[in-house]
Amino acid sequence: MARLVILGAGIAGQTAALQAKTRLSSKHEVVVISPNSKWNWIPSNIWVGVGAMRPEQVTFELAPVYKKTGIYFHQARAVSIHPDGDQSTSNPFVTIEYTNESRKGETEKISYDYLINSTGPKLNFAATKGLGPEFNSLSVCTYDHAAKTFSALNELIQRMKKGEKKTLLIGVGHGNCTCQGAAFEYIFNVEYLLRKNKVRDKANLVWLSNEKELGDFGIGGMHIKRGGYVTHSRIFTESLYTERGISWITQAHVKEAAPGEVFYETLDGAEHSIKNDFAMLLPPFSGVGLKSFNKQGEEITKDLFAANSFMLVDADYSKKNYSDWKSSDWPSIYQNPKYKNIFVAGIAFAPPHAISKPMQSPNGTSIFPTPPRTGMPSGVMARQIALNITDMMEGKADRPTRHASMAKMGAACIASAGANFFKGTAVSMTMYPIIPDFETYPDTGRQLKYTTGEIGLAGHWIKHFLHHAFIYKAKAKPFWRIIPE
Ligand SMILES: Cc1cc2nc3c(=O)[nH]c(=O)nc-3n(C[C@H](O)[C@H](O)[C@H](O)COP(=O)(O)OP(=O)(O)OC[C@H]3O[C@@H](n4cnc5c(N)ncnc54)[C@H](O)[C@@H]3O)c2cc1C
Repeated sequence: MARLVILGAGIAGQTAALQAKTRLSSKHEVVVISPNSKWNWIPSNIWVGVGAMRPEQVTFELAPVYKKTGIYFHQARAVSIHPDGDQSTSNPFVTIEYTNESRKGETEKISYDYLINSTGPKLNFAATKGLGPEFNSLSVCTYDHAAKTFSALNELIQRMKKGEKKTLLIGVGHGNCTCQGAAFEYIFNVEYLLRKNKVRDKANLVWLSNEKELGDFGIGGMHIKRGGYVTHSRIFTESLYTERGISWITQAHVKEAAPGEVFYETLDGAEHSIKNDFAMLLPPFSGVGLKSFNKQGEEITKDLFAANSFMLVDADYSKKNYSDWKSSDWPSIYQNPKYKNIFVAGIAFAPPHAISKPMQSPNGTSIFPTPPRTGMPSGVMARQIALNITDMMEGKADRPTRHASMAKMGAACIASAGANFFKGTAVSMTMYPIIPDFETYPDTGRQLKYTTGEIGLAGHWIKHFLHHAFIYKAKAKPFWRIIPE
Protein backbone atom coordinates (compact mmCIF):
# COMPACT_ATOMS: atom_id res chain seq x y z
CA MET A 1 0.00 0.00 0.00
CA ALA A 2 1.22 3.49 -0.81
CA ARG A 3 -0.34 6.79 0.21
CA LEU A 4 -0.70 9.96 -1.83
CA VAL A 5 -1.38 12.99 0.35
CA ILE A 6 -2.74 16.14 -1.31
CA LEU A 7 -2.59 19.46 0.54
CA GLY A 8 -5.41 21.77 -0.54
CA ALA A 9 -8.75 21.16 -2.23
CA GLY A 10 -8.94 23.99 -4.72
CA ILE A 11 -8.90 23.73 -8.49
CA ALA A 12 -5.51 21.94 -8.51
CA GLY A 13 -5.99 19.77 -5.41
CA GLN A 14 -9.45 18.56 -6.39
CA THR A 15 -8.32 17.76 -9.94
CA ALA A 16 -5.31 15.82 -8.65
CA ALA A 17 -7.35 13.92 -6.03
CA LEU A 18 -10.11 12.80 -8.42
CA GLN A 19 -7.70 11.91 -11.23
CA ALA A 20 -5.44 9.92 -8.90
CA LYS A 21 -8.27 8.07 -7.20
CA THR A 22 -9.79 6.85 -10.47
CA ARG A 23 -6.42 5.50 -11.66
CA LEU A 24 -5.14 3.85 -8.50
CA SER A 25 -5.95 0.29 -7.49
CA SER A 26 -7.83 -0.09 -4.21
CA LYS A 27 -4.70 -1.08 -2.23
CA HIS A 28 -3.49 2.56 -2.45
CA GLU A 29 -4.83 5.56 -0.54
CA VAL A 30 -5.57 9.13 -1.59
CA VAL A 31 -5.80 11.57 1.32
CA VAL A 32 -6.84 15.23 1.00
CA ILE A 33 -6.06 17.80 3.70
CA SER A 34 -7.80 21.15 3.40
CA PRO A 35 -8.98 23.68 6.01
CA ASN A 36 -12.31 24.59 4.40
CA SER A 37 -15.20 22.11 4.42
CA LYS A 38 -16.31 23.57 1.08
CA TRP A 39 -15.05 23.61 -2.48
CA ASN A 40 -15.29 27.02 -4.16
CA TRP A 41 -15.44 27.75 -7.87
CA ILE A 42 -13.41 30.92 -7.35
CA PRO A 43 -13.98 32.50 -10.81
CA SER A 44 -17.71 32.89 -10.02
CA ASN A 45 -16.92 34.85 -6.83
CA ILE A 46 -16.95 37.81 -9.22
CA TRP A 47 -20.69 37.25 -9.70
CA VAL A 48 -21.20 36.94 -5.93
CA GLY A 49 -19.51 40.34 -5.66
CA VAL A 50 -22.19 41.93 -7.86
CA GLY A 51 -25.13 39.99 -6.44
CA ALA A 52 -25.63 37.88 -9.57
CA MET A 53 -25.00 34.70 -7.53
CA ARG A 54 -25.18 33.68 -3.89
CA PRO A 55 -22.25 31.99 -2.06
CA GLU A 56 -24.21 28.68 -2.04
CA GLN A 57 -24.18 28.70 -5.85
CA VAL A 58 -20.40 28.79 -6.06
CA THR A 59 -19.59 26.26 -3.31
CA PHE A 60 -20.43 22.73 -2.18
CA GLU A 61 -19.51 20.50 0.79
CA LEU A 62 -16.45 18.35 0.08
CA ALA A 63 -17.02 15.50 2.57
CA PRO A 64 -19.88 13.77 0.65
CA VAL A 65 -17.88 13.83 -2.59
CA TYR A 66 -14.88 12.24 -0.88
CA LYS A 67 -17.09 9.66 0.84
CA LYS A 68 -18.58 8.70 -2.53
CA THR A 69 -15.20 8.46 -4.25
CA GLY A 70 -13.31 6.73 -1.42
CA ILE A 71 -10.88 9.60 -0.81
CA TYR A 72 -9.87 10.21 2.83
CA PHE A 73 -10.48 13.80 3.93
CA HIS A 74 -9.09 15.70 6.90
CA GLN A 75 -10.58 19.14 7.37
CA ALA A 76 -7.33 20.63 8.55
CA ARG A 77 -4.53 22.95 7.55
CA ALA A 78 -1.10 21.57 6.85
CA VAL A 79 1.48 23.23 9.08
CA SER A 80 4.80 21.56 8.30
CA ILE A 81 6.43 19.01 6.04
CA HIS A 82 8.97 16.50 7.42
CA PRO A 83 10.37 14.89 4.26
CA ASP A 84 12.84 12.64 6.14
CA GLY A 85 10.54 11.86 9.07
CA ASP A 86 11.71 12.68 12.60
CA GLN A 87 13.50 10.95 15.50
CA SER A 88 10.64 8.47 15.89
CA THR A 89 10.10 7.50 12.22
CA SER A 90 11.92 7.55 8.91
CA ASN A 91 8.65 7.85 7.00
CA PRO A 92 8.00 11.31 5.59
CA PHE A 93 4.97 13.04 7.06
CA VAL A 94 3.07 16.30 7.28
CA THR A 95 1.81 17.86 10.50
CA ILE A 96 -1.75 19.07 10.30
CA GLU A 97 -4.02 21.10 12.57
CA TYR A 98 -7.76 20.37 12.41
CA THR A 99 -10.15 23.21 11.63
CA ASN A 100 -13.54 21.44 11.95
CA GLU A 101 -15.60 22.14 15.06
CA SER A 102 -15.27 18.66 16.57
CA ARG A 103 -11.44 18.53 16.44
CA LYS A 104 -10.48 22.21 16.19
CA GLY A 105 -6.85 22.85 17.18
CA GLU A 106 -5.93 19.14 17.44
CA THR A 107 -2.74 18.23 15.60
CA GLU A 108 -1.75 14.99 13.88
CA LYS A 109 1.08 13.55 11.79
CA ILE A 110 -0.02 12.12 8.42
CA SER A 111 2.61 10.02 6.66
CA TYR A 112 2.92 9.98 2.89
CA ASP A 113 4.71 8.17 0.11
CA TYR A 114 3.94 10.94 -2.38
CA LEU A 115 2.89 14.49 -1.57
CA ILE A 116 1.21 17.11 -3.75
CA ASN A 117 1.28 20.65 -2.39
CA SER A 118 -1.68 22.46 -3.93
CA THR A 119 -2.29 24.97 -1.16
CA GLY A 120 -2.76 27.91 -3.55
CA PRO A 121 -2.01 31.45 -2.40
CA LYS A 122 -2.00 33.23 0.94
CA LEU A 123 -4.01 36.43 0.42
CA ASN A 124 -1.26 38.72 1.68
CA PHE A 125 -3.30 41.78 2.66
CA ALA A 126 -0.72 42.53 5.35
CA ALA A 127 1.78 43.60 2.66
CA THR A 128 -0.12 46.90 2.30
CA LYS A 129 -1.12 49.05 5.27
CA GLY A 130 -4.88 49.11 5.77
CA LEU A 131 -5.62 46.72 2.89
CA GLY A 132 -8.38 44.14 3.10
CA PRO A 133 -11.92 43.53 4.35
CA GLU A 134 -10.70 43.59 7.97
CA PHE A 135 -9.54 47.16 7.38
CA ASN A 136 -10.30 49.73 4.69
CA SER A 137 -10.77 47.93 1.36
CA LEU A 138 -12.85 45.14 -0.09
CA SER A 139 -12.03 41.90 -1.92
CA VAL A 140 -13.66 39.22 -4.08
CA CYS A 141 -11.01 36.54 -3.49
CA THR A 142 -13.23 34.34 -1.33
CA TYR A 143 -17.00 33.88 -1.45
CA ASP A 144 -17.30 35.51 2.00
CA HIS A 145 -15.30 38.53 0.88
CA ALA A 146 -17.38 38.75 -2.30
CA ALA A 147 -20.69 38.63 -0.39
CA LYS A 148 -19.50 41.42 1.93
CA THR A 149 -18.35 43.45 -1.08
CA PHE A 150 -21.75 43.14 -2.72
CA SER A 151 -23.45 44.45 0.46
CA ALA A 152 -21.21 47.53 0.35
CA LEU A 153 -21.81 48.00 -3.37
CA ASN A 154 -25.57 47.64 -3.02
CA GLU A 155 -25.64 50.22 -0.25
CA LEU A 156 -23.70 52.60 -2.49
CA ILE A 157 -26.12 52.02 -5.38
CA GLN A 158 -29.07 52.90 -3.13
CA ARG A 159 -27.33 56.18 -2.25
CA MET A 160 -26.64 56.89 -5.91
CA LYS A 161 -30.31 56.31 -6.63
CA LYS A 162 -30.98 59.19 -4.22
CA GLY A 163 -28.71 61.38 -6.36
CA GLU A 164 -25.37 61.11 -4.53
CA LYS A 165 -22.22 60.91 -6.66
CA LYS A 166 -19.63 58.28 -5.73
CA THR A 167 -16.11 57.25 -6.71
CA LEU A 168 -15.46 53.52 -7.02
CA LEU A 169 -11.85 52.37 -7.14
CA ILE A 170 -11.18 48.84 -8.41
CA GLY A 171 -7.92 47.06 -9.15
CA VAL A 172 -4.95 45.71 -7.23
CA GLY A 173 -3.57 46.80 -3.88
CA HIS A 174 0.21 46.38 -4.18
CA GLY A 175 3.03 46.86 -6.69
CA ASN A 176 3.61 43.11 -6.98
CA CYS A 177 0.04 41.88 -7.31
CA THR A 178 -1.07 39.29 -9.82
CA CYS A 179 -4.68 38.39 -10.79
CA GLN A 180 -5.38 41.64 -12.72
CA GLY A 181 -7.82 39.56 -14.82
CA ALA A 182 -10.10 39.01 -11.82
CA ALA A 183 -10.12 42.73 -10.94
CA PHE A 184 -10.79 43.50 -14.63
CA GLU A 185 -13.84 41.20 -14.54
CA TYR A 186 -15.05 42.85 -11.39
CA ILE A 187 -14.84 46.44 -12.65
CA PHE A 188 -16.73 45.51 -15.84
CA ASN A 189 -19.40 43.66 -13.87
CA VAL A 190 -19.78 46.65 -11.54
CA GLU A 191 -20.07 48.97 -14.55
CA TYR A 192 -22.79 46.72 -15.98
CA LEU A 193 -24.65 46.67 -12.65
CA LEU A 194 -24.50 50.48 -12.36
CA ARG A 195 -26.02 50.80 -15.83
CA LYS A 196 -28.68 48.23 -14.98
CA ASN A 197 -29.60 50.28 -11.90
CA LYS A 198 -29.61 53.49 -13.97
CA VAL A 199 -26.99 55.15 -11.78
CA ARG A 200 -24.01 54.99 -14.14
CA ASP A 201 -23.99 58.79 -14.44
CA LYS A 202 -23.57 59.06 -10.65
CA ALA A 203 -20.43 56.91 -10.60
CA ASN A 204 -16.81 57.82 -11.21
CA LEU A 205 -15.33 54.41 -11.96
CA VAL A 206 -11.53 54.21 -11.67
CA TRP A 207 -9.12 51.32 -12.40
CA LEU A 208 -5.94 51.20 -10.30
CA SER A 209 -3.21 48.74 -11.25
CA ASN A 210 0.49 47.90 -11.13
CA GLU A 211 0.53 47.03 -14.85
CA LYS A 212 2.79 49.15 -17.04
CA GLU A 213 -0.14 49.59 -19.39
CA LEU A 214 -3.68 48.32 -19.68
CA GLY A 215 -3.98 44.81 -21.11
CA ASP A 216 -0.75 43.53 -19.54
CA PHE A 217 -2.61 41.09 -17.22
CA GLY A 218 0.70 39.85 -15.77
CA ILE A 219 1.51 37.99 -18.97
CA GLY A 220 3.33 40.92 -20.56
CA GLY A 221 0.25 41.64 -22.70
CA MET A 222 -0.26 39.84 -25.97
CA HIS A 223 -0.69 40.48 -29.65
CA ILE A 224 -3.99 39.54 -31.23
CA LYS A 225 -4.77 39.16 -34.91
CA ARG A 226 -8.07 40.91 -35.71
CA GLY A 227 -9.47 41.79 -39.13
CA GLY A 228 -6.11 41.38 -40.82
CA TYR A 229 -4.28 43.63 -38.31
CA VAL A 230 -2.08 42.59 -35.44
CA THR A 231 -3.21 44.58 -32.40
CA HIS A 232 -1.67 44.72 -28.93
CA SER A 233 -3.95 43.86 -25.99
CA ARG A 234 -3.29 47.44 -24.74
CA ILE A 235 -5.29 48.88 -27.65
CA PHE A 236 -8.05 46.30 -27.21
CA THR A 237 -8.29 46.93 -23.45
CA GLU A 238 -8.01 50.72 -23.62
CA SER A 239 -10.86 50.79 -26.12
CA LEU A 240 -13.02 48.68 -23.77
CA TYR A 241 -12.35 51.07 -20.85
CA THR A 242 -12.96 54.12 -23.04
CA GLU A 243 -16.23 52.76 -24.42
CA ARG A 244 -17.50 52.21 -20.88
CA GLY A 245 -16.23 55.50 -19.47
CA ILE A 246 -13.83 53.88 -17.00
CA SER A 247 -10.72 55.94 -16.27
CA TRP A 248 -7.45 54.22 -15.41
CA ILE A 249 -4.32 54.63 -13.31
CA THR A 250 -1.53 52.20 -14.15
CA GLN A 251 2.08 51.75 -12.91
CA ALA A 252 0.86 52.15 -9.32
CA HIS A 253 2.03 50.59 -6.08
CA VAL A 254 -0.57 51.04 -3.35
CA LYS A 255 1.18 52.03 -0.11
CA GLU A 256 -1.84 52.45 2.10
CA ALA A 257 -5.58 51.98 2.02
CA ALA A 258 -6.84 54.54 4.52
CA PRO A 259 -10.55 55.05 5.24
CA GLY A 260 -11.91 56.77 2.11
CA GLU A 261 -8.50 57.39 0.57
CA VAL A 262 -5.88 55.24 -1.15
CA PHE A 263 -2.23 56.35 -1.26
CA TYR A 264 0.05 55.10 -4.03
CA GLU A 265 3.42 55.61 -5.68
CA THR A 266 3.85 55.47 -9.45
CA LEU A 267 6.73 54.18 -11.53
CA ASP A 268 8.11 57.70 -11.96
CA GLY A 269 8.53 57.88 -8.16
CA ALA A 270 5.71 60.39 -7.62
CA GLU A 271 3.35 60.05 -4.64
CA HIS A 272 -0.42 60.35 -5.16
CA SER A 273 -3.70 59.66 -3.44
CA ILE A 274 -7.26 59.18 -4.56
CA LYS A 275 -10.35 59.68 -2.42
CA ASN A 276 -13.03 57.03 -2.87
CA ASP A 277 -16.32 55.70 -1.53
CA PHE A 278 -15.62 52.08 -2.41
CA ALA A 279 -12.25 50.37 -2.93
CA MET A 280 -12.09 46.77 -4.14
CA LEU A 281 -8.37 46.07 -4.34
CA LEU A 282 -7.00 42.53 -4.70
CA PRO A 283 -4.06 41.64 -2.41
CA PRO A 284 -0.66 40.33 -3.48
CA PHE A 285 -0.18 36.56 -3.18
CA SER A 286 2.50 34.57 -1.38
CA GLY A 287 2.73 30.91 -0.45
CA VAL A 288 0.67 29.86 2.59
CA GLY A 289 3.76 29.67 4.84
CA LEU A 290 4.32 25.93 5.29
CA LYS A 291 7.50 25.12 7.22
CA SER A 292 9.78 22.15 6.76
CA PHE A 293 12.02 20.25 9.20
CA ASN A 294 14.68 17.55 8.87
CA LYS A 295 14.94 14.34 10.90
CA GLN A 296 16.74 16.16 13.73
CA GLY A 297 13.95 18.75 13.91
CA GLU A 298 16.06 21.53 12.36
CA GLU A 299 14.25 23.90 10.04
CA ILE A 300 14.94 23.28 6.32
CA THR A 301 12.17 25.46 4.87
CA LYS A 302 14.70 27.09 2.51
CA ASP A 303 15.42 23.70 0.89
CA LEU A 304 11.80 23.38 -0.17
CA PHE A 305 10.47 26.90 -0.51
CA ALA A 306 11.47 30.18 -2.16
CA ALA A 307 11.55 33.39 -0.11
CA ASN A 308 7.93 34.14 -1.10
CA SER A 309 6.86 30.78 0.45
CA PHE A 310 6.00 29.24 -2.90
CA MET A 311 7.51 25.78 -3.34
CA LEU A 312 10.62 25.10 -5.42
CA VAL A 313 10.21 22.83 -8.43
CA ASP A 314 12.15 21.83 -11.58
CA ALA A 315 12.54 25.43 -12.80
CA ASP A 316 15.69 27.40 -13.55
CA TYR A 317 15.81 29.80 -10.59
CA SER A 318 19.21 31.30 -11.40
CA LYS A 319 19.18 35.12 -11.37
CA LYS A 320 19.06 36.35 -14.96
CA ASN A 321 18.51 39.64 -16.74
CA TYR A 322 15.15 40.10 -18.41
CA SER A 323 16.79 39.76 -21.84
CA ASP A 324 18.14 36.33 -20.85
CA TRP A 325 14.82 34.85 -19.72
CA LYS A 326 13.86 31.74 -21.62
CA SER A 327 10.58 29.91 -21.76
CA SER A 328 12.57 26.76 -20.89
CA ASP A 329 13.22 28.30 -17.43
CA TRP A 330 9.66 27.25 -16.55
CA PRO A 331 9.01 23.90 -14.84
CA SER A 332 7.44 20.96 -16.64
CA ILE A 333 6.96 18.19 -14.05
CA TYR A 334 6.58 20.32 -10.87
CA GLN A 335 8.83 18.06 -8.79
CA ASN A 336 10.83 19.39 -5.86
CA PRO A 337 14.51 19.15 -6.84
CA LYS A 338 15.60 17.77 -3.47
CA TYR A 339 12.68 15.54 -2.50
CA LYS A 340 11.56 13.61 -5.57
CA ASN A 341 8.31 12.39 -3.97
CA ILE A 342 7.06 15.98 -3.45
CA PHE A 343 5.18 17.75 -6.27
CA VAL A 344 3.45 21.12 -6.50
CA ALA A 345 0.31 21.98 -8.50
CA GLY A 346 -1.41 25.29 -9.18
CA ILE A 347 -0.49 28.62 -7.65
CA ALA A 348 1.65 26.99 -4.93
CA PHE A 349 4.74 26.48 -7.16
CA ALA A 350 7.44 29.16 -7.25
CA PRO A 351 7.70 30.67 -10.75
CA PRO A 352 11.29 31.16 -11.95
CA HIS A 353 10.62 34.81 -12.76
CA ALA A 354 7.86 37.19 -13.76
CA ILE A 355 6.35 37.19 -17.26
CA SER A 356 5.80 40.96 -17.43
CA LYS A 357 9.00 43.01 -17.57
CA PRO A 358 10.27 43.90 -14.06
CA MET A 359 10.21 47.65 -13.35
CA GLN A 360 11.32 49.78 -10.41
CA SER A 361 10.55 53.36 -9.45
CA PRO A 362 13.50 55.72 -8.73
CA ASN A 363 12.79 54.98 -5.02
CA GLY A 364 13.55 51.29 -5.63
CA THR A 365 9.91 50.18 -5.38
CA SER A 366 9.11 47.17 -7.60
CA ILE A 367 6.00 47.91 -9.63
CA PHE A 368 5.09 45.14 -12.03
CA PRO A 369 2.69 42.20 -12.01
CA THR A 370 3.87 38.81 -10.79
CA PRO A 371 2.87 35.86 -12.99
CA PRO A 372 -0.68 34.55 -12.87
CA ARG A 373 -1.35 30.79 -12.66
CA THR A 374 -4.98 30.67 -13.72
CA GLY A 375 -7.51 27.86 -13.43
CA MET A 376 -6.83 26.08 -16.69
CA PRO A 377 -3.05 25.61 -16.31
CA SER A 378 -3.55 24.80 -12.61
CA GLY A 379 -5.95 22.00 -13.57
CA VAL A 380 -3.80 20.72 -16.45
CA MET A 381 -0.63 20.54 -14.36
CA ALA A 382 -2.53 18.88 -11.47
CA ARG A 383 -3.86 16.17 -13.79
CA GLN A 384 -0.43 15.47 -15.30
CA ILE A 385 1.20 15.37 -11.85
CA ALA A 386 -1.49 12.98 -10.61
CA LEU A 387 -1.02 10.70 -13.64
CA ASN A 388 2.76 10.71 -13.19
CA ILE A 389 2.44 9.82 -9.50
CA THR A 390 -0.14 7.10 -10.06
CA ASP A 391 2.10 5.51 -12.69
CA MET A 392 4.94 5.45 -10.16
CA MET A 393 2.69 4.10 -7.39
CA GLU A 394 1.45 1.32 -9.67
CA GLY A 395 5.01 0.45 -10.75
CA LYS A 396 4.40 1.52 -14.36
CA ALA A 397 7.15 4.16 -14.34
CA ASP A 398 10.12 5.01 -12.15
CA ARG A 399 9.96 8.76 -12.82
CA PRO A 400 7.52 11.38 -14.14
CA THR A 401 6.95 10.95 -17.86
CA ARG A 402 4.26 13.56 -18.61
CA HIS A 403 5.02 17.25 -18.92
CA ALA A 404 2.84 20.33 -18.44
CA SER A 405 5.06 23.36 -18.93
CA MET A 406 3.23 26.68 -19.17
CA ALA A 407 5.73 27.45 -21.93
CA LYS A 408 4.25 24.66 -24.04
CA MET A 409 0.64 25.05 -22.96
CA GLY A 410 -2.14 27.17 -24.39
CA ALA A 411 -4.82 28.74 -22.22
CA ALA A 412 -8.30 30.04 -22.69
CA CYS A 413 -9.60 32.72 -20.38
CA ILE A 414 -13.11 34.10 -20.40
CA ALA A 415 -13.43 37.34 -18.48
CA SER A 416 -16.99 38.27 -17.63
CA ALA A 417 -17.91 41.85 -18.45
CA GLY A 418 -21.54 41.78 -17.30
CA ALA A 419 -23.73 38.90 -16.14
CA ASN A 420 -26.99 38.72 -18.08
CA PHE A 421 -28.31 36.00 -20.36
CA PHE A 422 -29.38 38.46 -23.08
CA LYS A 423 -27.40 41.65 -22.45
CA GLY A 424 -24.25 40.28 -20.78
CA THR A 425 -20.84 40.14 -22.38
CA ALA A 426 -17.48 38.50 -21.77
CA VAL A 427 -14.02 38.89 -23.20
CA SER A 428 -12.83 35.55 -24.56
CA MET A 429 -9.06 35.26 -24.86
CA THR A 430 -6.89 32.40 -25.98
CA MET A 431 -3.14 32.32 -26.09
CA TYR A 432 -0.39 29.93 -27.03
CA PRO A 433 1.93 29.52 -25.28
CA ILE A 434 1.17 31.13 -21.91
CA ILE A 435 4.86 31.94 -21.36
CA PRO A 436 6.09 33.92 -24.37
CA ASP A 437 8.70 32.05 -26.41
CA PHE A 438 10.75 34.58 -28.39
CA GLU A 439 13.05 31.89 -29.78
CA THR A 440 10.22 30.14 -31.61
CA TYR A 441 8.02 33.22 -32.21
CA PRO A 442 10.52 36.11 -32.46
CA ASP A 443 7.96 38.80 -33.36
CA THR A 444 5.45 38.56 -30.54
CA GLY A 445 6.51 35.57 -28.41
CA ARG A 446 3.29 33.72 -29.20
CA GLN A 447 1.67 31.84 -32.06
CA LEU A 448 -0.71 34.45 -33.55
CA LYS A 449 -3.00 31.77 -34.98
CA TYR A 450 -3.94 30.64 -31.47
CA THR A 451 -3.77 34.00 -29.67
CA THR A 452 -7.13 35.71 -29.91
CA GLY A 453 -9.41 38.17 -28.10
CA GLU A 454 -13.11 38.89 -28.68
CA ILE A 455 -15.90 40.46 -26.65
CA GLY A 456 -19.52 39.42 -26.99
CA LEU A 457 -22.63 37.78 -25.57
CA ALA A 458 -21.50 34.27 -26.57
CA GLY A 459 -18.56 34.67 -24.19
CA HIS A 460 -21.01 35.21 -21.32
CA TRP A 461 -22.93 32.05 -22.22
CA ILE A 462 -19.68 30.04 -22.29
CA LYS A 463 -18.60 31.51 -18.93
CA HIS A 464 -21.98 30.56 -17.45
CA PHE A 465 -21.80 27.07 -18.94
CA LEU A 466 -18.26 26.61 -17.56
CA HIS A 467 -19.46 27.59 -14.09
CA HIS A 468 -21.89 24.63 -14.11
CA ALA A 469 -19.52 22.26 -15.94
CA PHE A 470 -16.63 22.76 -13.52
CA ILE A 471 -18.80 22.44 -10.41
CA TYR A 472 -20.32 19.26 -11.91
CA LYS A 473 -16.83 17.92 -12.55
CA ALA A 474 -15.52 18.81 -9.09
CA LYS A 475 -18.50 16.94 -7.59
CA ALA A 476 -17.32 13.83 -9.51
CA LYS A 477 -20.75 13.34 -11.06
CA PRO A 478 -21.20 10.73 -13.85
CA PHE A 479 -18.79 11.12 -16.79
CA TRP A 480 -16.94 13.98 -15.01
CA ARG A 481 -13.70 12.79 -16.60
CA ILE A 482 -14.77 13.84 -20.09
CA ILE A 483 -14.90 17.51 -19.01
CA PRO A 484 -11.45 18.97 -19.76
CA GLU A 485 -9.52 21.17 -17.33
C1 LIG B 1 -11.73 36.48 -7.84
C2 LIG B 1 -10.96 35.55 -8.71
C3 LIG B 1 -11.44 35.25 -9.98
C4 LIG B 1 -10.73 34.39 -10.80
N1 LIG B 1 -11.22 34.12 -12.04
C5 LIG B 1 -10.57 33.23 -12.83
C6 LIG B 1 -11.09 32.91 -14.12
O1 LIG B 1 -12.10 33.45 -14.57
N2 LIG B 1 -10.42 31.99 -14.85
C7 LIG B 1 -9.29 31.38 -14.38
O2 LIG B 1 -8.73 30.53 -15.09
N3 LIG B 1 -8.78 31.67 -13.17
C8 LIG B 1 -9.39 32.58 -12.39
N4 LIG B 1 -8.88 32.88 -11.16
C9 LIG B 1 -7.67 32.18 -10.71
C10 LIG B 1 -8.03 30.79 -10.16
O3 LIG B 1 -8.98 30.92 -9.15
C11 LIG B 1 -6.76 30.14 -9.65
O4 LIG B 1 -5.90 29.96 -10.75
C12 LIG B 1 -7.02 28.77 -9.04
O5 LIG B 1 -7.95 28.85 -8.00
C13 LIG B 1 -5.71 28.18 -8.56
O6 LIG B 1 -5.96 26.91 -8.06
P1 LIG B 1 -5.14 26.35 -6.82
O7 LIG B 1 -5.70 24.99 -6.58
O8 LIG B 1 -3.70 26.51 -7.06
O9 LIG B 1 -5.49 27.32 -5.61
P2 LIG B 1 -6.89 27.48 -4.85
O10 LIG B 1 -8.01 27.24 -5.77
O11 LIG B 1 -6.82 28.78 -4.13
O12 LIG B 1 -6.88 26.30 -3.78
C14 LIG B 1 -6.01 26.26 -2.68
C15 LIG B 1 -6.54 25.26 -1.68
O13 LIG B 1 -5.59 25.07 -0.63
C16 LIG B 1 -6.25 25.16 0.62
N5 LIG B 1 -5.25 25.54 1.64
C17 LIG B 1 -4.80 26.77 1.96
N6 LIG B 1 -3.89 26.67 2.95
C18 LIG B 1 -3.75 25.36 3.24
C19 LIG B 1 -2.96 24.62 4.16
N7 LIG B 1 -2.11 25.21 5.02
N8 LIG B 1 -3.09 23.27 4.19
C20 LIG B 1 -3.94 22.63 3.35
N9 LIG B 1 -4.72 23.29 2.46
C21 LIG B 1 -4.61 24.63 2.40
C22 LIG B 1 -7.34 26.17 0.37
O14 LIG B 1 -8.35 26.11 1.38
C23 LIG B 1 -7.83 25.70 -0.99
O15 LIG B 1 -8.68 24.58 -0.84
C24 LIG B 1 -9.54 33.80 -10.33
C25 LIG B 1 -9.05 34.11 -9.06
C26 LIG B 1 -9.74 34.99 -8.26
C27 LIG B 1 -9.19 35.33 -6.89
